[in-house]
Amino acid sequence: MNSETIKWSELDAEAKDRLVATKIMGWTGGECDGEIGEQPISPDGWYCQRCGYDGSWGDDFIHEERPPRYTQSMDRAWEVIRMLYGRLLFSKRREFYRILQRLVTDTTNLEPGTLVDWPDVLWLLTPEMICQAALRTIGSNELS
Ligand SMILES: [Zn+2]
Repeated sequence: MNSETIKWSELDAEAKDRLVATKIMGWTGGECDGEIGEQPISPDGWYCQRCGYDGSWGDDFIHEERPPRYTQSMDRAWEVIRMLYGRLLFSKRREFYRILQRLVTDTTNLEPGTLVDWPDVLWLLTPEMICQAALRTIGSNELS
């Protein structure tokens, strides 16, 4: 393992989203100009309606944009699939399917050496698996 390797399981959700956003989706971040709204639960705070950044009244509204929540929302994860579809050659898409199948199988009690079949993979799929498979397909040497 070299120093460039990123351990997926040790990243928090925002770090995972940031990786997907920058490595796959072409997102660059920067200062966010989203509209500020009042926190629905706590009147002491505000949040950015674009990126979800939380702040307290009295804080500066200027903030770095948070990445879209690709690992936490199937709607967002599907944008990753659509990006891969447009970007990957057929052989790389097959690699993506195989990695996804492996990730899904790892959450089951199937005997070693067996895989969950398609389309049964769909019943167990999560947004995080889609993102992880996408990153392994595109930057396989940078992620474990
Ligand atoms: Zn924002």
